[in-house]
Amino acid sequence: MNILERYHAMEYGPAPEARNEADAWLAGRDFSKALFIDGAWKAAASGKTFDTSEPSSGKLLAKVSDAGAADIDAAVAAAAKALPKWSASSGYARAKVLYAIGRAMQRHQRLFAVLESIDNGKPIRESRDIDVPLAIRHFIHHAGWAQTLEKDFPDHKPVGVVGQVIPWNFPLLMLAWKIAPALAAGCAVVLKPAEFTPLTAILFAEICERAGVPKGVVNIVQGGPEAGAAIVNHTGVQKIAFTGSSEVGKIIRKATAGSGKKLSLELGGKSAFIVFEDADLDSAVEGLVDGIWFNQGQVCCAGSRLLVQEGIAEAFIAKVKVRMSRLRVGSPLDKNTDIGPLVDRTQLDRVKGLIAEGAKQGAFCWQPDSALPTTGYYHLPTLATGVSPANILAEEEVFGPVLATMSFRNTEEAIELANNTRYGLAASVWSENVNLALHVAPQLKAGVVWVNGTNMFDAACGFGGYRESGFGREGGREGMFEYLAAKLPVGSVIKPAAAGSAQPVEQADGTAIDRTAKLFIGGKQVRPDGNYSLAVATAKGKLAGEVGLGSRKDIRDAVAAARACKAWPDATAFNRSQVLYYFAENLSGRAEEFAARLVQLTGVTAKAAREEVEQSIERLFLYAGLADKFEGRVHQPPARVVTLALHEPAGVVGIVAPDNQPLLGFVSLMAPALAMGNTVVAVPSERHPLLATDLYQVIEYSDIPAGAINIVTGRSAELAGVLAKHDDVDGLWVFADAETCAKAEADSIGNLKRVWTGNGRSLDWGSNEAAGEAFLRRAIEVKNVWVPYGD
Ligand code: NAD
Repeated sequence: MNILERYHAMEYGPAPEARNEADAWLAGRDFSKALFIDGAWKAAASGKTFDTSEPSSGKLLAKVSDAGAADIDAAVAAAAKALPKWSASSGYARAKVLYAIGRAMQRHQRLFAVLESIDNGKPIRESRDIDVPLAIRHFIHHAGWAQTLEKDFPDHKPVGVVGQVIPWNFPLLMLAWKIAPALAAGCAVVLKPAEFTPLTAILFAEICERAGVPKGVVNIVQGGPEAGAAIVNHTGVQKIAFTGSSEVGKIIRKATAGSGKKLSLELGGKSAFIVFEDADLDSAVEGLVDGIWFNQGQVCCAGSRLLVQEGIAEAFIAKVKVRMSRLRVGSPLDKNTDIGPLVDRTQLDRVKGLIAEGAKQGAFCWQPDSALPTTGYYHLPTLATGVSPANILAEEEVFGPVLATMSFRNTEEAIELANNTRYGLAASVWSENVNLALHVAPQLKAGVVWVNGTNMFDAACGFGGYRESGFGREGGREGMFEYLAAKLPVGSVIKPAAAGSAQPVEQADGTAIDRTAKLFIGGKQVRPDGNYSLAVATAKGKLAGEVGLGSRKDIRDAVAAARACKAWPDATAFNRSQVLYYFAENLSGRAEEFAARLVQLTGVTAKAAREEVEQSIERLFLYAGLADKFEGRVHQPPARVVTLALHEPAGVVGIVAPDNQPLLGFVSLMAPALAMGNTVVAVPSERHPLLATDLYQVIEYSDIPAGAINIVTGRSAELAGVLAKHDDVDGLWVFADAETCAKAEADSIGNLKRVWTGNGRSLDWGSNEAAGEAFLRRAIEVKNVWVPYGD
């Protein structure tokens, strides 16, 4: 046999990772006391436990304490007790603790990796080289944020006690993504790992004991959905950070509505993997393997929809099949294994069920002819072709090793197909033409876009989704904001408008020409669909005029007009800036008239009215100036890649403005949304809508494109509800009574739009703090575009 023949005959031998340390760790613990509360190990008050077993064999690993409501109470109480001292400790003190955690994890890196692979089933190469190192980097990176908190996040304070609920697919990494920023921000946490994978969180709690984390600052409670729900509903928790399925995310959105809890949701995805015909196909195949078969496809951002350009589709799929037949399915503790078992039998059954349904709907599902181990929850990598966009495999998150394939003809079609999903977590774009890739990336509705790469993550770069993939970001500067509360100038309590109360009114004196303000939709003044009007009173209870009584249909038209307006989001930031300056200039030309209107409608003094108009003009000026300054950043993660953290408009933003300071409040909400390139559907103050309708003419001659601002007058509570339920509204800001705010949050679950409410209070719009970055941040999505470089 010559060398070449020997080389070709070479077989992979087994390369097992030793597990004796992990087995000794497992044998040395009493898992019936696995709740880490107030720095001590406790059994569940009920004495209950649940089983965690090994996916590669089905064997029982441990019986772990199963927390109930009483245990969650104890954990929240411990966190609340620890919070004041921890949040008041110096940034340096917190930085030292975070650093100590990171270093201690480094010392036990291998044990973490082996335990993770045993408990979750992921190949040791992944836990050893990706999950654990990234988790460690997260803690060390966030030590820096702890120390620079006051300088980098002025006007913010820690949000308080944080409840965190995580899934089983990246047990340690998700824990790190949650706990590191929370500790850096000065919060105390109660974290619940997923019931399939409790082990590395227990080892992490032991690390906390050794790394000097003060008692009660980190509490880790084990259990299932009930324990999760007890955290979510606990009144002692000020923020919920959840990672998991969109289904549970929606339950949590609803459960926390009206509670005032801050919320971030990192949910599922159906991410596109787009291969253009000029891509380096061999690299793209390798990328695809990583994109969909990493962690058996149990990855929220898995590239589970392959979109490949028509001309190369056949050749590319052929290459993919060859590569698939070389994937090694086997023990997670074998260093040669590419594909381990799924986490549990339920997950295996779910994946099989979805494949069967996809096939029934016309997909052709191909699998390599590889042998599966005889025990454990293994599933072969699967390629589905002939998939129509409506096939279940193209629409649903499978969360398993299944790739759905479609082809496209040109760039527009690729973008359209990629965005044809209710999710919006990630996307990969493969092309040797960086111009094309950077042309496509901003058009993809996804929080993360990888150019010629996939599954790149870093502690410095935010990660999170659009649409039903949730809201909020983890990692980086934007991730820190999730654990901080902005100090906004809270104003008066907003009372609900009396039901059905037509306002006033004594007749007007008949000297003025009768004028009825219409709605303003798509750049035109239009009659309300229902042809009803609402009487508007002066401060003295006389009839000041009438406005259209907007309805569901009017909101629908306004949203359609806002969506159709491309000129505003596509305009350059400088262009938007100039238009907003011009708007301010034109309002200034009519300052006296608006001041008189304010006096007439609200009864404020002439001086106060002039001041409100002046402040409104000033605010427009401010956002005109900020339109081209609140920009993204460039990150340099520890790899040959730059990450562009772009600020994109959220999209169509609904605004429900309050009655107090009706001009300034309206402008203070509308201007930042516009400055960032959003189009707006605004419901002005229900009591004083004439101030907004008087703005039509100013808007009309300020060069604002048709559809960028739409104004629908009417009943705030009703219209807020319509906006909340509308699935083409991306963001909703509501300053109304508490019930309307709560309902808006609860009703937003259709598309999981970003809702910001005042929780039944207004803001003091005249205060300087009622303007600036805190508002702009709510008007954008941060999209991280990863661009590798080098050969
Ligand atoms: P899941 O939603 O079933 O469970 C997630 C966690 O929520 C678990 O800890 C579970 O015990 C808990 N839980 C379940 N019901 C609950 C309830 N009603 N109230 C409170 N807590 C509850 O999800 P899963 O099956 O564990 O994980 C898979 C999902 O996670 C996938 O959809 C995946 O895309 C998503 N995920 C998202 C990201 C991201 O960053 N976007 C990362 C990883 C996983």
